[in-house]
Amino acid sequence: MSISFKVLGGPGEDNALHAVVDTGQSLHPLLFDCGEGCAARLRVSECQAIQHLCFSHFHMDHIAGFDTFFRHNFNRPDQPVHVWGPEQSIDVLYHRFRGFSWNLHEGQQGEWRVHEILETRIKEAAFFTTEAFAQLHERQAKERTRCQPAVILADAAFRIEAFILNHGTTPSIGYRLVESDGRNIDTTRLAELGMQPGRWLGKVTDTAVPDRDSVLVGNAPRRVGDLRKQLIVSRPGASLAYLTDFALTDHDRDNVVQWLKGTDTLVCEAQYRHDDASLAARNHHMTTRLVGELARDAEVGELILQHISRRYTTAEWREMLTEARAIFTNTRFPDGWDFFSV
Ligand SMILES: [Zn+2]
Ligand SMILES: [Zn+2]
Repeated sequence: MSISFKVLGGPGEDNALHAVVDTGQSLHPLLFDCGEGCAARLRVSECQAIQHLCFSHFHMDHIAGFDTFFRHNFNRPDQPVHVWGPEQSIDVLYHRFRGFSWNLHEGQQGEWRVHEILETRIKEAAFFTTEAFAQLHERQAKERTRCQPAVILADAAFRIEAFILNHGTTPSIGYRLVESDGRNIDTTRLAELGMQPGRWLGKVTDTAVPDRDSVLVGNAPRRVGDLRKQLIVSRPGASLAYLTDFALTDHDRDNVVQWLKGTDTLVCEAQYRHDDASLAARNHHMTTRLVGELARDAEVGELILQHISRRYTTAEWREMLTEARAIFTNTRFPDGWDFFSV
């Protein structure tokens, strides 16, 4: 099991985050934001495999590349496309879907489910290709607790959490992807017990098999639950957070730090240098130093800076990395931005 990821787009450009959870049995690709050129940086097959498109908010630099994503997926036959975002998500996506003259759509497969993450509930609406996306099918909303991270999706392999951040006139949703704890066989213990590895081990690690079942080890029947106690070691799952376009308020900083506590990788905006802190505050953005402090206080494993302003020179971008590293050492730019490494 693992989470792999790539920041799409370069410095000063629109950025997005492509992440794939690999359970060993299946891949779960996700895309966080879809700015100009971001979906176009994925192979078509990668774009068509994305199960969940998670928007932080709908400022143009986070949705300008949506048409490319939509073009590759509008009539996806095998599974619905889930879209997540803040208030107005259903309205914004409805208009995007309807922003074309549709023909040849009747009888085509394709279902889109748009989820709107609000303070106390998550609204949902479905749209269908065969209807040319003309009808909005409202679904039952789910309740959630105010000011707390919401688990918006959970299955056996991973979960996605969402937190509503402050970005001035619009909320911005921060996301955290958390892999479930892994269940590995302790091979040293297996050898100590003199057991021969075999297909029976698959039943021991498969969570769908109940403890009361038995398997043949050699020629002896053994209870699965007993074998688990002897042989399974648990490995903590990986975690990856994506936060962009926000300012921390005194009211929510502690909650955000608690939410991110111990996250392996934090991919975070660093729009401004700290010298421009007043500008950052006015535009409800973070600075290099503020992001470094967040990473330090949340004790994350590493910090990756993205969404840096094009107002700065290359030399200043390098200084921005230095500024963040002065607070939190394990900070870097995304892979592929090597030109800017120092
Ligand atoms: Zn932005
Ligand atoms: Zn924004």
